[in-house]
Amino acid sequence: MIGITSALWLQQAGRKVIVIDPNPPGTGASHGNAGCFNGSSVVPMSMPGMWTSVPRWMLDPLGPLSIRLAYMPTLFPWLWRFLRAGRREEVKKQAAALRALLGPTLPYLKQIARGAHIDDLICEQGHLYVYRSEKSLAGDRFGWQLRGDAGVHLDWLDQRQLQDFDPALSASYTQGVLIRENGHTPDPGGLVMRLAEYFVRQGGVLHQAKATGFRLDGGRLQSIETDNGIVQADSAVIAGGAHSNTLLKMLGDWVPLETERGYHVMISDPESQPRVPTCDASGKFVTTPMNNGLRLAGTVELAGLEFAPDWKRARALVKLGQKMLPGLPACVAEERLVFWMGHRPSLPDSLPVIDRSSRCPDIVYAFGHGHVGMTGAPMTGHLVADLILGRTPKIDIAPFRFTRF
Ligand SMILES: Cc1cc2nc3c(=O)[nH]c(=O)nc-3n(C[C@H](O)[C@H](O)[C@H](O)COP(=O)(O)OP(=O)(O)OC[C@H]3O[C@@H](n4cnc5c(N)ncnc54)[C@H](O)[C@@H]3O)c2cc1C
Repeated sequence: MIGITSALWLQQAGRKVIVIDPNPPGTGASHGNAGCFNGSSVVPMSMPGMWTSVPRWMLDPLGPLSIRLAYMPTLFPWLWRFLRAGRREEVKKQAAALRALLGPTLPYLKQIARGAHIDDLICEQGHLYVYRSEKSLAGDRFGWQLRGDAGVHLDWLDQRQLQDFDPALSASYTQGVLIRENGHTPDPGGLVMRLAEYFVRQGGVLHQAKATGFRLDGGRLQSIETDNGIVQADSAVIAGGAHSNTLLKMLGDWVPLETERGYHVMISDPESQPRVPTCDASGKFVTTPMNNGLRLAGTVELAGLEFAPDWKRARALVKLGQKMLPGLPACVAEERLVFWMGHRPSLPDSLPVIDRSSRCPDIVYAFGHGHVGMTGAPMTGHLVADLILGRTPKIDIAPFRFTRF
């Protein structure tokens, strides 16, 4: 999503653009996410006092977090930075930076996609967060304060109002927050594909290859090496999601990029669906009505890029969904379930990198959007184009500099 939106903004500015990717558009993390365009998601992952919840989450087999013990030594430096990023004053700065990046997602997406015929893939009906107790809502108070301070309008719903809004939800939810400004796509992978087709119709080129290096001359980019030939280019954008560090290292740069692996399960022909994407705030999972069924997405698994998926984590989402939507049957036939795992590209402070390479001003980095890459993509693409075209960036990009690490 980040690569394609960057390509579209550059194309609209009159640049001839080639997208290099060994895989078809919209098949990375951008394929299986919850599809939410949540400009309100200004709350970073690392929050003050969060570490006190970690043991409880990890001991719960349905819990939102798991860490592979074998991966712990590799992970430790990132985890340390992650915990430090959760200091109150840091979090407030991160929230302000996130709001600037995420807030304009829908108008920017529509602008970039004018002519792409994706109206059927953008729904603007809001999002719902639901809680089962005053206590769990109180635990998130700082997060709601951050959203309010960022100018997000929040509609607080009590148990009766929740049931009126969406009778499909379990009556065990006693509080909810409706955020009307948010939207979603009922087919994230399809949306990226449709944007890519539009890019090609307008003269863009998809070059199926893996980028393997850069040829520089006097500090300026001459071409990109791939496993399928050399591509001449005077500018480049590294938008390789969780895999971006490999390319950065070739340019002598590095950032503490990890992957927060996430899972989804799709239930085809669901007996029950939420009215809008609905997040169980304590369980930290989202149910989204999609074109081809009901998607239950979430969980964070810290286990790097190489370990095999742990499908128990995706299966756990089915149980959580059944608790949220009592209309789902207690037993869903196996052939109606499809499981997926994807790699969120995550930096410890929940902010992406949008910056120039230190070695070559013609190369721009755009990755690390963690939990909000679909939402952050339209503005990120614009910022990428600003950097490449030498325009003043639309928003302050200082919080996204890679040198912050
Ligand atoms: C379970 C889950 C739920 C989520 N829900 C949401 C949500 O509701 N809303 C939201 O905003 N975000 C959500 N996210 C996050 C979002 O999906 C990601 O932040 C986003 O998709 C990242 O986009 P990307 O383009 O950076 O990476 P990707 O989509 O992973 O794309 C990276 C691309 O780079 C290519 N690539 C890698 N290396 C190379 C190379 N050397 N040469 C060429 N190409 C290369 C890959 O093939 C891939 O196509 C969710 C993520 C998960 C896992």
